[in-house]
Amino acid sequence: MTSTLPNDNIRNFDDQITNKLISEIIRDRIKNSGTRFSANDNIADFIHPGELEILEREVASRVKDLLKSLVIDVDNDHNTQETAERVSKMYLNEVFKGRYHEQPRVTSFPNDKNLDEIYTVGPISVRSACSHHLVPILGECWIGIKPGNKVIGLSKFARVADWVFSRPHIQEEAVMILADEIEKLCEPKGLGIIVKAQHYCMKWRGVKEPNTSMINSVVRGDFRHDLSLKQEFFELVKQQSATNNY
Ligand SMILES: [Zn+2]
Repeated sequence: MTSTLPNDNIRNFDDQITNKLISEIIRDRIKNSGTRFSANDNIADFIHPGELEILEREVASRVKDLLKSLVIDVDNDHNTQETAERVSKMYLNEVFKGRYHEQPRVTSFPNDKNLDEIYTVGPISVRSACSHHLVPILGECWIGIKPGNKVIGLSKFARVADWVFSRPHIQEEAVMILADEIEKLCEPKGLGIIVKAQHYCMKWRGVKEPNTSMINSVVRGDFRHDLSLKQEFFELVKQQSATNNY
């Protein structure tokens, strides 16, 4: 089969012998390491410096093919002439940056004062896309912590959440992945996360239900074992939601 891709600037310059696409090179690295690379996995460790720019050109070339298959006149329609490049940049560096870029730096501090009262942070904006249709999932998230060995700054929760949600997801898994990352950073005694989001798969297409949202939660550690603590978490979030009129 002949590739429709131009042979110029989307191949890895260092790999002239095999002449592989950069996506193939990255994929081979991941496979050789036995790592999973589902839509909601971060693969930044397998992308070497300078390769993201080459990948951006490859994705743009593919998006252009998609537009052509949709019978859009990308050569003469001034609105779509640079759409492929815009979409590629948007996927790799904005809406799916949590796949291709490393986690933002978050410094953890030892919990010297032995803080052990629970606190909640929220609402934190949730911006994601469903893995099934790649259309937006937009909503809010609340995180509750019973401090353990380490603490991180409040704004860091929003940064980590943004990084985790900026991938193609299903909401149930997104919450679990966020919980895993926060556990790694804070080692809390208890952790609770609630996400309430609207899915554009349901609003924009399919059943076209504009007001349906999905709420799900995960509770770990003391939040799971201690019922009163779990209730306190949900109560605090309810107060925060009311204050924020959501
Ligand atoms: Zn969907």
